[in-house]
Amino acid sequence: MTARILVVDDVKANVTLLETRLLAEYFEVLKAYSGAEALETCENGKVDVVLLDVMMPEMDGFETCRRLKNDPATAHIPIVMVTALDQISDRVRGLEAGADDFLTKPVSDLQLITRVKSLVRLKTLTDELRLRASTTRSIGIEELLSRGSTAGSGVPKVLLVEERQNHADRVARYLRGKADLKIIADPQVGLLEAAENGYDCVIISTALENFDPLRLCSQLRSIDRTRFVPIMLIANEEEEELVMRGLELGINDYLIRPLDEQELTARLTTQVKRKRYNDQLRASVAQTIEMAVTDGLTGLHNRRYLDSHLETLFERAEARRRPLSLMITDIDRFKAINDVHGHDGGDDVLREFAARLRQNVRGIDLACRFGGEEFIIVMPDTEFAIAQKVAERVRAHIAATPFVIGNSGKQIEVTVSVGVSSLQPPHDNAQALLKRADLALYEAKNSGRNKVVAKAA
Ligand code: GH3
Ligand code: MG
Ligand code: MG
Repeated sequence: MTARILVVDDVKANVTLLETRLLAEYFEVLKAYSGAEALETCENGKVDVVLLDVMMPEMDGFETCRRLKNDPATAHIPIVMVTALDQISDRVRGLEAGADDFLTKPVSDLQLITRVKSLVRLKTLTDELRLRASTTRSIGIEELLSRGSTAGSGVPKVLLVEERQNHADRVARYLRGKADLKIIADPQVGLLEAAENGYDCVIISTALENFDPLRLCSQLRSIDRTRFVPIMLIANEEEEELVMRGLELGINDYLIRPLDEQELTARLTTQVKRKRYNDQLRASVAQTIEMAVTDGLTGLHNRRYLDSHLETLFERAEARRRPLSLMITDIDRFKAINDVHGHDGGDDVLREFAARLRQNVRGIDLACRFGGEEFIIVMPDTEFAIAQKVAERVRAHIAATPFVIGNSGKQIEVTVSVGVSSLQPPHDNAQALLKRADLALYEAKNSGRNKVVAKAA
């Protein structure tokens, strides 16, 4: 893993020290000697992680951090505060300024590298999501970020896995009013709970009698439903080794006993904020994909989706020696509907037509708007004779009840012609299947419309 790390410190020797250690791990290193310089580098360059000194003249680390986090262009860059004072108040101030983590000078090699790696990993994920969200869709990250403020509100749901009652009570006291906290003593029950009820963060105490806390971490990371949930460990001072392995396994943060109320809250807030941001990105990517394969007017799948899935459905049917049928529907004299009732009237018909289509096919059938007033339904596991019946049912359902258009309650008669074809082993292919249905449709049109024609071969 390589990444670009920006080291910010007003003391040249400190920069060089960190630089040497990072270079040894093959990281690329950028340097800045003041807050202002750091801001400029972040805006211009592609920085993956910032190591930020707290005590600097003019603009100190807190202020630099705040500015980076308040600028949408740099808000996603993870920031590690490097503080000379091992003072909790400093850490808390850093986290409140939006820092993602902190290291205390003198910085241990192990801590430095593990923390940087863990943040780089996180950033890679976020970058990937940002890229997908922004390239596949014109709505920008900026809009997402501005929406972030609303999604970031609300009391977070937190799960605490802790066997010892007095420790659990303390966390509950600290988080009262700040989190919707559920406490579970048994780690295996905790795992199920986390998988079943979406949490914003899972906090795991390392003091489990008969269970390896890291096992729980890795189990959480391996289950789909909890893969992205932030995990925080609560460990004892002497458990540094365990925490390091936890970070390698993908835990997001840790706290050392005795717990500090402010630190707990600040770290939890950071984790929840980050999770919600990534959730939003993920949802946006999913929505983008959804939009790319959905027909806006009818909500059915579009042609692009059909093109990519017909082949798959066909191959699956062939491989499993299962039947597969397809129908193409085309509304009769649709141009006339448009001419008489206007384009909006035509759109109303299309929407209602799609709704009736949906009512007459099964959930596993793939219904698409192929274009204009043509729709295609692919029916897995469906014999030729059954497909004909389905087609006839659709035709009859369209013809039986007039379509209501506009707000005036105006009713019009609509009919449809349908062509049906089925998979013909052993020599067949998806395009030929489509072609036969199209020929059948053509016949239906030519022999009077409001008809189903099926082509066996
Ligand atoms: P036939 O019975 O032979 O199918 O006649 P038709 O008039 O339905 O056939 P044709 O394919 O010539 O006309 C289809 C019309 O559908 C032409 C086009 O303007 C209209 N159309 C295509 N897409 C839309 C749409 O999204 N909304 C509306 N309102 N009309 C559309
Ligand atoms: Mg038509
Ligand atoms: Mg047509």
